[in-house]
Amino acid sequence: MYKIKAAEDLKQVMNAYFTKLKNGKNKIAWCTSVGPAELLRSFGFEVFFPENHGALLGATRTAMEYIPEAIKCGYSSHVCSYTTADIGSYLAKSSPLQKHYDMKTVPKPDLIAYNTNQCREVQDWFNFYADEFSCPIVGIQPPRYVDEVSDQEVELVVKQMKKMLPVLEEVSGEKFDLNKFKETVKLSKEATLLWQKVLKTSTDINAPLSFFDGTIHMGPIVVLRGTQIAKDYYSLLLSELENNVRNKISFLPKMKTRIFWEGMPIWGKLRMMSDLFISNGSGVLASTYCSSWVFDKFDENNPWESTARAYTEIFINRSDKAKEKMLSEWFKEFKIDGIIYHDTKTCFNNSNAKFGMPQRLQKLTGVPSLIIEGDLCDLRFFSEGQSITKIETFLEQIEDSKIIINE
Ligand code: SF4
Repeated sequence: MYKIKAAEDLKQVMNAYFTKLKNGKNKIAWCTSVGPAELLRSFGFEVFFPENHGALLGATRTAMEYIPEAIKCGYSSHVCSYTTADIGSYLAKSSPLQKHYDMKTVPKPDLIAYNTNQCREVQDWFNFYADEFSCPIVGIQPPRYVDEVSDQEVELVVKQMKKMLPVLEEVSGEKFDLNKFKETVKLSKEATLLWQKVLKTSTDINAPLSFFDGTIHMGPIVVLRGTQIAKDYYSLLLSELENNVRNKISFLPKMKTRIFWEGMPIWGKLRMMSDLFISNGSGVLASTYCSSWVFDKFDENNPWESTARAYTEIFINRSDKAKEKMLSEWFKEFKIDGIIYHDTKTCFNNSNAKFGMPQRLQKLTGVPSLIIEGDLCDLRFFSEGQSITKIETFLEQIEDSKIIINE
């Protein structure tokens, strides 16, 4: 059975990350998953990511217990299920962190920072905690749904980032140090470029990394950006995957179809989905989701502008036109036969099947598409039987059309 050996190291890396948070020696900042982590780390904050907690709630399926707690408190069941699961877990004073990382609870924040580059939901979500903990909160609100990011837009975001400095200085008790900021941006850049190379190993015909593996191995690039640990982990993972490519070792030998996953993972169904595709001879080997933590514009020599640009031009924050261009390029690079859009019920922001993109992109690239309905955490919105039938039919159709083309 195919196994990525670095997974053992990954466990240790994530354990060490949570242990450091638990020990509480340093001040703690909460941050959105594509928020200004490098700036926070330059002040010596340990950084905790509530979305990572949301993913854990989804993957352990405990989200289903906690979401009703948030609904009782006034949140709609149609609101982002990371938000409702996380707030519900807080209200229930219970979390899988207890079982998996021996933590009593989520670490208490000294500071909360967000960036609405991904959605406005994070602002509401994080403000809930700012009130609960009477904690200072800072935020970046960049222009949304941009085509190409202009210099003026970058300038605006830089201004907002710099405006956070007095609060960061006061809470951390440290003066802003440009050299430390440059250092964390450099480490983040090195880790993110390694992560990009990790993902690109699956452009090979013997793809060594599936999307489902990627959702697990992306842990450090989300929570440990700006640290040597993340950089070291991705050097190790990359070397193993490159070795697999050289030795023609794939997670699915004799792959019949190569699939692109668009949208959020269905965290509580990762194993089931992975097995479904594998048993149909199909490899899901690229995604917008895992690629969202590739920030190739980071430049330590220009830390303010480069981070402002990198965080503003992420996929989720782009116009449909820009997204379609990015997807077409990925299709070619990964030799994609079909795309599956996960139309996520509670995350409008990360669902791209609602405004005609599947049709436009199919016309542009010839790559067939399928839309499945589901959710990141709330499994009431996912019909397993119906999705299996749709996916298997879709894969068969692609295989048939490949045979006809090859005849
Ligand atoms: S992008 Fe979607 S899943 Fe992520 S926090 Fe925003 S609404 Fe929730």
